[in-house]
Amino acid sequence: MLKALQGAVTAAHVDSWTGRREAQVGGMKPAGAPLIALFLACARFNAVTLFADESASDATSGSASGGQAVSELNTQGVRAAQQGQWELGVGYLRRAVKVNPRDVLLRQNLSGILTDWAIQLERSGDAAQAERLLLEAVTDDPDNGVAFVRLGDLAYFRRSDFSGAIASWKRANGKLSPAEWRAVADRISQAQRDATIEQDFVSEGTEHFDIRLSHRGTADLEALGRLLETAYAALVEQLGSGPSKLTVIVYTERDMRRTYYQRDWALGFYDGRLRLLGRELGTDVAPMMVAHELAHAFLQHAYGPALPIWVHEGFAQLQERDPSTRPPAEAGGLAQDVAPAGLRQPRTDDELRLEEAVAGGDAWVPLKWLDRRFAQPSYREDVGRAYVQARLVVAELIRRRGVARFKTFLDAVAKGTPVDAAYDAAFAPDHWAETDRPILK
Ligand SMILES: [Zn+2]
Repeated sequence: MLKALQGAVTAAHVDSWTGRREAQVGGMKPAGAPLIALFLACARFNAVTLFADESASDATSGSASGGQAVSELNTQGVRAAQQGQWELGVGYLRRAVKVNPRDVLLRQNLSGILTDWAIQLERSGDAAQAERLLLEAVTDDPDNGVAFVRLGDLAYFRRSDFSGAIASWKRANGKLSPAEWRAVADRISQAQRDATIEQDFVSEGTEHFDIRLSHRGTADLEALGRLLETAYAALVEQLGSGPSKLTVIVYTERDMRRTYYQRDWALGFYDGRLRLLGRELGTDVAPMMVAHELAHAFLQHAYGPALPIWVHEGFAQLQERDPSTRPPAEAGGLAQDVAPAGLRQPRTDDELRLEEAVAGGDAWVPLKWLDRRFAQPSYREDVGRAYVQARLVVAELIRRRGVARFKTFLDAVAKGTPVDAAYDAAFAPDHWAETDRPILK
């Protein structure tokens, strides 16, 4: 079962509180890697500035003591935000802006902190409050492109409000780096295709999902809802928490191909929305497909956009089983997925042969090149091999070093540690350099 998950684009700016945010992470994926930019975890590095007292004094209207006070409020506001005390920080900056409403720097700082706070709130599930803060952020600083992007994301991912999302995203034009804007422009095109395909769709809600499909569709919505919620619960057991709300779109074959070109081998996609092929939903494949795609959403939620594709695909494949038949989780959750036999049973002779070829070395791809096989396969078989290798490698790493160290690895990569260094630290005495050759012995 092959699916696509493409890479991620992260915003990455500036300065005075770098190092603080987990969102610092990824930066751009290697050139050429992302076909579909994942955007939801894109980060804001605010140009929040602790400006010198003089500039504040100059900026304020009149008295030196007024300038002093504004400067002090700004400093305290930024420091509070640096410590994650968002409400306090915003409070100081709001007071400063009230004293001197025309100070652009103060407004930018307030806008930036509001944006970061909103991102935290959205991650923890409070999208409504996040949206209010973002609207305030773009009022304070109409050049805050990232806030416009996040507003568009909320409209798109939470409400499938395509026109609202596109309008917000377009307002970010000229306010992002060229690479960031390219990713936004791609997303606008995607949303335009979605709007056409989904114009007559109806939706049905469950606790964690908004399921959308054509009103002519025949999928068993109740069964799909149960499947999704069961897979959701299984992933919560392993990763702690997941996205508070996810949109799932059920496609006909034809609509799926209109949604994503050139991916005719895929049964599902996750690009912030979970896109599934309806004809598979009544089959044995359905629980696996759902668990796999949902695993991507959970990884994205927990670790942001910096994880290599092979980590995503390896982990997602280890979730491919019917969660309703899963034995109760042991401590550590994940471990049972790969122990004691180590690997899920291969489903076909072809897959078994491929596993042997990968493990033996004939079909081994140095790990540092593996992501390219997903993103830029030279022929279809490439993708199949990449999936098999990703699954074997992730299973082997967990078998060898345990779940806790695998999660340490994910955490480190999420926080911006390069993959090689994170690998060496988490999986010692194994070394990244050794992954040029097969490590499955
Ligand atoms: Zn996948």
